Amino acid sequence: MADWQTLSDRINNVAPSATLAVDSKAKAMKAAGVDVIGFGAGEPNFPTPDYVVEAAAEACRDPRNHRYTPTPGLPELREAIARKMLRDSGYEVTPEQVVVTNGGKQAVYEAFQILLNDGDEVIIPTPYWTSYPEAVKLAGGVPVEVFAGADRSFEPDIDAIEAARTARTRAIIVTSPSNPTGAVWSRETIEAIGRWAVEHHVWVVSDEIYEHLNYDGARTSYIGQVVPEVRDQLIVLNGVAKTYAMTGWRVGWLVAPEPVAKAAAKLQGHMTSNVANVSQRAAIAAVGGDLDAVYAMREAFDVRRKAIVAALNAIDGVHCPTPTGAFYAFADVSGLLNRPLGVNGSVATSSAELAAMLLDEAHVAAVPGEAFGAPGYLRFSYALADDQLAEGMRRFQAWVG
Ligand code: GLU
Repeated sequence: MADWQTLSDRINNVAPSATLAVDSKAKAMKAAGVDVIGFGAGEPNFPTPDYVVEAAAEACRDPRNHRYTPTPGLPELREAIARKMLRDSGYEVTPEQVVVTNGGKQAVYEAFQILLNDGDEVIIPTPYWTSYPEAVKLAGGVPVEVFAGADRSFEPDIDAIEAARTARTRAIIVTSPSNPTGAVWSRETIEAIGRWAVEHHVWVVSDEIYEHLNYDGARTSYIGQVVPEVRDQLIVLNGVAKTYAMTGWRVGWLVAPEPVAKAAAKLQGHMTSNVANVSQRAAIAAVGGDLDAVYAMREAFDVRRKAIVAALNAIDGVHCPTPTGAFYAFADVSGLLNRPLGVNGSVATSSAELAAMLLDEAHVAAVPGEAFGAPGYLRFSYALADDQLAEGMRRFQAWVG
């Protein structure tokens, strides 16, 4: 490649999204006629609730919805999101603090574009969702990983967080319930992080997209509720994707102090403008309605959660702590490395190799821990149909032997 053809350092330094890569490889294999079981991308297998689809269908027929909306979103949607915050997180925000984004992912991206100067550091409790460090890097920032493994049930340690703090620490990410681990961090941990952030003037970016998916009596603690003083330095990220089975509609949002929300709208005004008008109308029906749909899905996920954890732990060489949130099982597979597996006796030396072999030989798609800063693990999304889950686990078990 000639020099002039080399793309920017910014893009060359960014890794592709591993969750989406696994998903598209699995979908391509399916399209080619291979019967793949997909535990890859976290995507509820349920359809979007009827009343939400109806609202969108109606909105499609109204020419007013064929036009732009204000960049930060339809006023009715921003109001509905503010009301939802009060209902679920227990504190008041104004509609002016809300910016509607193209999925939660754009909210992540915007948060770091707004907060970071070159060289600013962001503490990322690890295992982390795969897009966080890349969004930090795209903003010129430096991701600083603070790892907590299965031995701590993936719960971050405030002393380790403090040890990672430097003069350049600008923000910390909070994700509870967690993608990829399914851990629900304790109220004490959330409180400790909130107090630490206030004391040291560190911004908190709290991704609350799995807030309603709790099991075994676990409850999501909202950092803005537990530590009210943090709200002036808090950016909450959320969206309709996981709560209402609306991944493809691309509606997320951020809620932040007003100057930050204004800055996000300014940025978005040059990037994507508003989120699709019809999708916003659908989101008004979703966010403005009750939580029955997510509670019904949660019941189904709970059955699958128990099934997958039991199946994974029954495999010699796999250890999976029981997750109490989201819809991911994060299994330690280090016991499967460096030993012959499958009929060919193939040997994996890393979880990335293991995931590739599992897909090629057993047609089971899972995301390797490397994508989440946690080599030696595999992430299984259990938001797929029960019979698929059972078949996928049967194949994994049979493949290991
Ligand atoms: N957030 C989901 C996941 O982690 C969807 C894919 C993505 O956006 O990364 O699998």
